[in-house]
Amino acid sequence: MRGKCKLCLIDWVELQASRFLPAAIYRSMRGDPNKGNPNPWEITANSARQTSRQVKASLLCHECEQRFSKNGERWVFTNGLKNDGTFPLAATLASYVPYAQEPDASTTKVYHAAEIPEINISALTYFAASMFWRGSAHPWKVDGTCPAPLGPYQEPIRQYLMGMTGFPSDVALTVMVREPSSIRHLTHVPLGGWWNELFVAKFAMPGFVFLLNASKNLPPPLRRNCFVRGEGNPIVLSGILEKSILDAGVQMVNRGRRKVH
Ligand SMILES: [Zn+2]
Repeated sequence: MRGKCKLCLIDWVELQASRFLPAAIYRSMRGDPNKGNPNPWEITANSARQTSRQVKASLLCHECEQRFSKNGERWVFTNGLKNDGTFPLAATLASYVPYAQEPDASTTKVYHAAEIPEINISALTYFAASMFWRGSAHPWKVDGTCPAPLGPYQEPIRQYLMGMTGFPSDVALTVMVREPSSIRHLTHVPLGGWWNELFVAKFAMPGFVFLLNASKNLPPPLRRNCFVRGEGNPIVLSGILEKSILDAGVQMVNRGRRKVH
């Protein structure tokens, strides 16, 4: 099918059938020994359920698909959580001393990616930005709306993804690595919205949780924790995330059930 590529904006090009989530995410979810249902949460208009259905849309030209693969996905899926349980990035973090650690018994640790040469900061940033942009650039939801509408930040992020500008200054990205647990493959597509002047979105996939915030007045803690602009490029390792991801998933499913009956 020919049309206008949403990323490079070139018209009358052959468009690829893009999935919302890259195929490698589906591959990395298989073979989890602790899996109940290994499929991602599919978000519909008013519910969420786990499904292997891979929604496709004609979004990008071949060149832009390659751009996403080369600039972000390749490194993330080489170093992320594999379906055999290995996780090169987590192994790298374990070999370094964290910059900060929660004083209580919790497992949250912060590392400075700038001091860890094995971490490809630009690839992780590019990958996360490309996923949130996908959630804003196409109405993936069955009710015809976008799951993570970036509003005025969609165009600056598109320009960043095209290599025309740097990462937008009013956007903050938090990168979190998930510690081993029975549900660290739990996946949901980028989901977000606006709370007054602040854009808040979250994306969970095997081994990672990404948060994206955008505002003309970003709260200082979000700026400090930003993987792109925060001092030392902070990256968080935590097992606490799992409970909040699971709780959110269960809530969505319960909401969906009530609607159905
Ligand atoms: Zn393109």
